[in-house]
Amino acid sequence: MNNTKIIDKLKQIIKEKGLKYTKQREVIFETILNCEKHLSAEDIYNLIIQKYPDEKIGIATVYRALAFLEESNLISSISLDKNTRKFETNFKEHHDHLICTKCNKIVEFVSDKIEKEQEKIAKENNFKLLNHTMYLYGICEECSKK
Ligand SMILES: [Zn+2]
Ligand SMILES: [Zn+2]
Repeated sequence: MNNTKIIDKLKQIIKEKGLKYTKQREVIFETILNCEKHLSAEDIYNLIIQKYPDEKIGIATVYRALAFLEESNLISSISLDKNTRKFETNFKEHHDHLICTKCNKIVEFVSDKIEKEQEKIAKENNFKLLNHTMYLYGICEECSKK
């Protein structure tokens, strides 16, 4: 799905919920869509003030928009510690995550073996698998050298 179509989904959801359309939500969503990495609210805020200096978006608006986008199933977040959450779009190809608990680095991976094994386990338990999220927590190479 291209970004224009994905943004149309956001517009449709806003309409269905009877909310007023604001450019700000779109700008925030677009920033997440255009970034390969997982972003914190501060990262998103900093990218926006660089790219759209005229929008005058405050950090509180970013937080509210992120809550709305997550509620609407357009983005998801990973809690890294009490103060850090990172967001990514739900329109990326499926992948799982390795998370460093020291520096909050996130590495994405896909393993056919794990995917197949999960299908097998679901089948054995008579589950129709709809989706899954996997976060493996640990210490990355750089942090383990410190
Ligand atoms: Zn690390
Ligand atoms: Zn990811």
